[in-house]
Amino acid sequence: MQTGRHFLQIPGPTNTPLAVLAAIARPVIDHRGPEFQKLAKDVLQRLRLVFRTRQPVVIYPASGTGAWEAALVNTLSPGDRVLMVETGWFATLWQRMAARLGIVTEFIPTDWRQGADLAALEARLATDARHEFKAVCVVHNETSTGCVSDIAAVRKALDRAGHPALLMIDTISSLASIDYRHDDWGVDVTVAGSQKGLMLPPGLSFNAISDKALAASKANRFPRSFWDWGEMLAANKKGFFPYTPSTNLLQGLKVALDLLEEEGLEQVFARHDRAAEATRRAVRHWGFETVCRLPGACSSSLTAVMLPDGHSADAFRKAVLERSNMSLGNGLGKLADKVFRIGHLGDFSDLSVTGTLTGVEMGLAVSGIPYRPGGVQAAMDYLQGNAGPNARAAP
Ligand SMILES: *Cc1c(COP(=O)(O)O)cnc(C)c1O
Repeated sequence: MQTGRHFLQIPGPTNTPLAVLAAIARPVIDHRGPEFQKLAKDVLQRLRLVFRTRQPVVIYPASGTGAWEAALVNTLSPGDRVLMVETGWFATLWQRMAARLGIVTEFIPTDWRQGADLAALEARLATDARHEFKAVCVVHNETSTGCVSDIAAVRKALDRAGHPALLMIDTISSLASIDYRHDDWGVDVTVAGSQKGLMLPPGLSFNAISDKALAASKANRFPRSFWDWGEMLAANKKGFFPYTPSTNLLQGLKVALDLLEEEGLEQVFARHDRAAEATRRAVRHWGFETVCRLPGACSSSLTAVMLPDGHSADAFRKAVLERSNMSLGNGLGKLADKVFRIGHLGDFSDLSVTGTLTGVEMGLAVSGIPYRPGGVQAAMDYLQGNAGPNARAAP
């Protein structure tokens, strides 16, 4: 038997604040009634602040994967070419989905230890003189590696090449954790999900839609029904949905938006930056490398840690779960069993960060993995020296 609270330190789903859970536990309401209408109008409007957009955001009762598909089928036609960047496992899954849908994908490789290779991207766009690429798709925060891509720079690369492709960005593990700007960065479709920075359970996903993407959706030829923006936007205008929405998750979303507004997005980002830096200091002290090898590209929402050769990351995670009742993220794709991932996103405090690192350090001790003790102290020293914003306590 395990006592105490489970430490859910995977990079999504994340810990849900009690106030959000309480809102979700309220009675189910009529999704065609006035109470729902008021709720929907409120969250559809305020969500835009989180995406930093004045344009519409649609909400699907689906995991993030659904919003990936929605972005593709609403804007492209079968046989269209798109340029994608292999930042890691999630970029690979999005690329596979596009290929399965009959979209012709070109995939710019990376070593999975950095963000998108901007020079390669720009060079490829420059040689596409006939503008065959209809879209460029990039994962902002690659959750399998803990590397961030510079989306403002991707926009500039498109502009310098004078390329008209739509820009589609996956922000599933960065929205409301790492600075992101749909409008300022000229993004056409932003894809997001509920269970990471937004501090909700899984089950909602989002598309923020530019005018250019909306125009593309009126001319494209992909068959779609459930994901169709047209019907969704028409119903949303009146505060309703074309089919039954996740009413209770939307009640939770309202409270999550309240919490984010109360803390302020800048403070939210600073809190994530600080937790990430503390975590990296512990990792360095232990003597390990992070998967991300470019300091400027390291994620503020998770840290992927490489174990020395010959040590199983999955056996280590199992030991941590059994001894400390804590879940850490696994290595994905080619990083399987070589890497574990520490989530520091959503709702957390200094004590949840240091508690997490304590669980990792105790796990190293029992797993026979060589490490230098004192990583938790290094993290504490950093947090103490950088008081930072007063983090909201975890439940
Ligand atoms: C979690 C995640 C996904 C997958 O979302 P699901 O909700 O599991 O469908 C996609 N992309 C990124 C970057 C993610 O972090």
